[in-house]
Amino acid sequence: MKKDQIKKFTGINGNSRRIRALNTRLNKIYGPFKPFRPKEGVEELIVTVLSQNTNDINRDRAFRNLIDKFPTWDGVLAAPQKKIENAIRVGGLAKTKSRAIKKILGEIKSRYGRFTLDPISKLPIDEAIETLTKLPNVGVKTAACVLVFSFGKPVIPVDTHVHRLSRRLGLVSEKATRDQTFYILMEIVPEKLRYPFHIYLIRHGRNVCKSQRPMCGGCALSDLCPSAGY
Ligand code: SF4
Repeated sequence: MKKDQIKKFTGINGNSRRIRALNTRLNKIYGPFKPFRPKEGVEELIVTVLSQNTNDINRDRAFRNLIDKFPTWDGVLAAPQKKIENAIRVGGLAKTKSRAIKKILGEIKSRYGRFTLDPISKLPIDEAIETLTKLPNVGVKTAACVLVFSFGKPVIPVDTHVHRLSRRLGLVSEKATRDQTFYILMEIVPEKLRYPFHIYLIRHGRNVCKSQRPMCGGCALSDLCPSAGY
């Protein structure tokens, strides 16, 4: 995303000083940040594909069913799509996701000769995102999930909570799309804060700044938030 576009879609509170203030406040509410146990890259990618349009419980059930039925990636790649579809049905969008999983695994195998994304971990972030998003059905958010959760890279996957809170907190403009929000957050969030800040935003989105009824009255960020009380 070009500099002038970043300026256009950055919100009134979109600067690193505000981010530090918000992060300090969120840290007090949710406690010290602990990174998740990293998953292997291909596993993280498939789990992220399964997470689309469903909750964590059904995503995990779908993944468990898939690896119970097909314990190796070679097995998944060789399986008829219908059987994969049946295995992951609990996660929803089974037809689309099963097709995507087969295509992704096929592409990884032909690109690297085995099921690995390790070569991508050595690339600069921009290049890694570009390389991952060339895989079928992999967008910027999915690519960012692999980079942060598997390889510990300083990126911020923009899911529905991060997108909503970034707009409400004035970090990005109301009109910013998810992908635009990603590139703006990468500009304004200091590298060291990206992983924790993203996890804090998700927690706050789930607990307080909910989609339908944000609980502004009891929100510890209200004095820092231009949308407080709307
Ligand atoms: S004050 Fe309201 S809109 Fe702002 S972050 Fe808190 S709950 Fe969300």
